[in-house]
Amino acid sequence: MKILVINSGSSSIKFQLINMENLEVLAKGLVERIGISGSKLNYYRKAEKKVIEQPIKDHKEGINLIISYLTDLNEGVIKDKNEISAVGHRVVHAGEKYSGTVVLNEDVMNALKACIPLAPLHNPPNIIGIEAAMNILPGIPMTGIFDTAFHHTIPEKAYIYAIPYKYYEKYRIRRYGFHGTSHFYVAKEGAKKLGKDLKELKIISCHLGNGSSITAIKNGESVDTSMGFTPLEGLVMGTRCGDIDPSIPMFLQKNEEIDYNEVDRILNKMSGLQGISEVSSDIRDIEKRAEDGDHQAHLAIEILAYRIKKYIGSYIAAMNGVDLIVFTAGIGENDCLVRKMVLEDMEFFGIHLDSIANDKVVRKYGVISTPDSNVTVMVIPTNEELEIAKQTLKLVLNKEKQDFGFSSY
Ligand code: ADP
Repeated sequence: MKILVINSGSSSIKFQLINMENLEVLAKGLVERIGISGSKLNYYRKAEKKVIEQPIKDHKEGINLIISYLTDLNEGVIKDKNEISAVGHRVVHAGEKYSGTVVLNEDVMNALKACIPLAPLHNPPNIIGIEAAMNILPGIPMTGIFDTAFHHTIPEKAYIYAIPYKYYEKYRIRRYGFHGTSHFYVAKEGAKKLGKDLKELKIISCHLGNGSSITAIKNGESVDTSMGFTPLEGLVMGTRCGDIDPSIPMFLQKNEEIDYNEVDRILNKMSGLQGISEVSSDIRDIEKRAEDGDHQAHLAIEILAYRIKKYIGSYIAAMNGVDLIVFTAGIGENDCLVRKMVLEDMEFFGIHLDSIANDKVVRKYGVISTPDSNVTVMVIPTNEELEIAKQTLKLVLNKEKQDFGFSSY
């Protein structure tokens, strides 16, 4: 069985075709710059990379191009598009409706459209990508895997904000949380590595990329997470501010004489690592500048690590303990310095960092706590595409079940 995983952004489509018999990635790639000049397909088959530069007007043309390469006589990996057993789509926001993976049908599509006000930047391109794929691959089952779904188990006390309750009732303003597929995947892998049942563990998973979030997972269920109503809340990110005093946007609006669109741009695109360092949103550039003695660059790294440390402490309190802490995504998998700054001076919690191991674990699985640490700390490379493909497979094999709760497998 071969499953195609699709992640559609506003001007891009990421894809992977996975053979579910041996979990081999047969081909993968990225369509970029859809609808603007310089559009292209980056197509990878085994170690070979091909760049196909051509005008790609919209998502339908992008998916058509992907399928034509996957089935190409010379470049392809399948003979016919009907060899694709199912398509798993990553979707950012499912609101409160879905607690797991669903087969995409008219009802679900309507529910996703209803969620557009909650995710105006993410859901529209996801929906366009799904509709294009349905058009090009008629009759092939399609599933939606939602970034929010894993956090469906968060209790009310952790998802209701202390603003008038009527705004929850009217607009569904609440914590949703994101990166759910990644948090679930690394928690499951971590439990496997420990040789324990996910349902018996307290896990804190730190997904630290350009967008970052941290999740408390108790007995296999998300019980709290740092991103909120939108992905702006929580940790310090590449360009997003994370937690700030909620009166700051009002202050800026008034004193800078700017409208709410500009405030939105400042908090989403000009803050975080970029905003503090005034160097870059990429931690690698910031670390280079910090080594040269740049104060703001050094400060950006300190604030990033300090915020993660505080969240870990609060989630230990929320779960009354922790067995396993996992680091994943670009910074989590690669950045030994940030991991060290987060994990140092946490002995009170029974967290003991193995500094030598920490320096060696880059872009691979590894344990970075000492053997006598009460809490195990691991680096686990995330693989959202594989998780999407696995869930899609389970769903198409169990057609009678429409909505799989994450905790049910
Ligand atoms: P996203 O999927 O959210 O766009 P990623 O998980 O790919 O992000 O993470 C991107 C970030 O990870 C980069 O902005 C960079 O700060 C960091 N990163 C990537 N590679 C490395 C590395 N080798 N060392 C340190 N940081 C890295």
